[in-house]
Amino acid sequence: MATSSLQSKTPSTSQSTLVWRTIQSIVWLIGLAIVFNLFFYPTLGIHLFWNILIPIAPLLLVLATGVWRNVCPMASTALFPRYIGLSKKIKLTTAQSGKLYLTSVILLFLIVPLRHLVFNTNGLATGILILSLALFAIVMGLLFEWKSGWCSGLCPVHPVEKLYGQNNRLSLPNIHCDKCYRCVTPCPDSTPAINPVSSKKTAYHRIAGFLMTAAFPGFIWGWFQVPDYEGSITFSQIVIAYEFPLLGVLVASGLFLVLKRFLTAKKLIAIFSALAVSCYYWYRLPALIGFGIFPNDGMLIDLSHSIPKWVVSVIIITTSLFFFWWIVFRKQKQISWGSRPAYAKISRTKTSLP
Ligand code: SF4
Repeated sequence: MATSSLQSKTPSTSQSTLVWRTIQSIVWLIGLAIVFNLFFYPTLGIHLFWNILIPIAPLLLVLATGVWRNVCPMASTALFPRYIGLSKKIKLTTAQSGKLYLTSVILLFLIVPLRHLVFNTNGLATGILILSLALFAIVMGLLFEWKSGWCSGLCPVHPVEKLYGQNNRLSLPNIHCDKCYRCVTPCPDSTPAINPVSSKKTAYHRIAGFLMTAAFPGFIWGWFQVPDYEGSITFSQIVIAYEFPLLGVLVASGLFLVLKRFLTAKKLIAIFSALAVSCYYWYRLPALIGFGIFPNDGMLIDLSHSIPKWVVSVIIITTSLFFFWWIVFRKQKQISWGSRPAYAKISRTKTSLP
């Protein structure tokens, strides 16, 4: 019998919900503070967003995707209309879900190179980007049922969650969904060992899944070969910002197709997930502490005169080994990012878009 979640909650569940709600609120306020700084104290805002929050995010997605799914401030923003009863609760069709998934991947591939051209060095532009995405998130929340529009739909971070979070160890309470309204199938939060190609229902799903597994490590490699540009942007800089990631996409995709002949799909996806996140930290960790390819780009603190270079090499080799162990060699636990709540009785006036 589907009972109200509040009625069915034990005191310890309520306590846990209260703790999560408190953390969500704190993280949301931190997000707001970062946006404030991006507008009014851009140097600090850029450090907080691009050089602290974003570098931590991939690690969190690998280790405990459910934590991020529960506390992401953009998710809280997107789901706010649903919480206060303003969402139209439209159920997406499979094809529409696939189109949103592919759009989110394309957005990711288009927006990330813009970091070199604008966002990495311009706090105001980054603040406007975040607010624009928040506006999109709210609109998706106003229109679509629970997480289907944004968190499991159009959000450009969601495909990365699926790639990095496939060998999750922590299955947490799904703190946003008090009941399950079957808003998306498969539900990324409740499906064990979900990955970017878990759903192959339409061509959109398949293309998006391929781009996120086969191409993404190359995209990351290419992205790190481009410096940050400041001031007015030339056409040749735009070409450079996209051509290196594109080159990486082509090489990685080719490698994936070759390896596909020799490895199981599961193993290959895990290897490419580990490759992507290892490649990210291989370049990002040195840059954060002053050992980057392009001096000062993405630097949080300059330790280049304080520690020898071999220490940095040891750190990035160890980090990569850790990710391969965690994602590829460690036994697959077959658990989901979060536990699925009880199914709700669904009564919708509108069931899908026309
Ligand atoms: S648990 Fe149910 S309502 Fe929540 S995101 Fe998954 S499918 Fe949607």
